[in-house]
Amino acid sequence: MAKFCPECGKSTIKIMDGGFERDACPDGHFVQYAKTKIGVGALVFRGDRVLLVERGIPPIGIWTLPSGHIEQGEPVDVAIVREVKEEAGLDIVAQGVVFIRNQLQRGISDIYVIFLCEVDENQMPVADEVEATEARFVALSEFDSLNVSSYTRWFIETYLAERLQPWAWTQTPYDRPDTRIFTARNGHDGTI
Ligand SMILES: [Zn+2]
Repeated sequence: MAKFCPECGKSTIKIMDGGFERDACPDGHFVQYAKTKIGVGALVFRGDRVLLVERGIPPIGIWTLPSGHIEQGEPVDVAIVREVKEEAGLDIVAQGVVFIRNQLQRGISDIYVIFLCEVDENQMPVADEVEATEARFVALSEFDSLNVSSYTRWFIETYLAERLQPWAWTQTPYDRPDTRIFTARNGHDGTI
C-alpha cells in the first residue's frame, strides 16, 4: 500500500500490472511492487572465535550473529557496518557476501544478507545493552552451553567447512555512486 507517490507526492491510483492490482503514481513516477524486508548479518572471526551477540530484543536470550534491518535508503554494506557498531561497538570492514537467506514471514519475502567481515585486533566488543545484552568472540566449543540460534550455527559451521569466497562489491564502468554489485571472484583463467 502506498497512498502517495514518493517522488511527486500525488495521491496514487490503482493500476493492473502483471496480473496484480498495484498502487501507482498517476504521472508514472512510481509503482508499488511487493514490500520486502532486508536484514544484514556479520560473520566476524578472531582466531578460532566468532563474534556473537546475546539478543536483548525478541527473541531475547538467543545468541546470534550481529544483525539488523536496513534503514530506508541505506546500502546493505553500510547497514552491516552500522549494525555491528551499534550492537557490538566494533568498526568492521565488510569483505563481501557469503550467504543470502530468503524466508517468507507473514506473507512478506524477507531477505537476510550475511557478510564476511574483518576487524582489527585492538578493538574489543562492547554490547549496547539494548539490542544486545552481551557481545563477545565465542569459541565454537562454547556453542553447546550457549543458546545459539540454529541458523547462526549453520552459517558459521558451513562457512568454516567450505571456506567460502565472499562475493565482494565490484564496480562497472556504468556505476552511479549508489550502485553495488556483489559478485563471485573465482573467474576463468582467460582461456575458453
Ligand atoms: Zn509521481
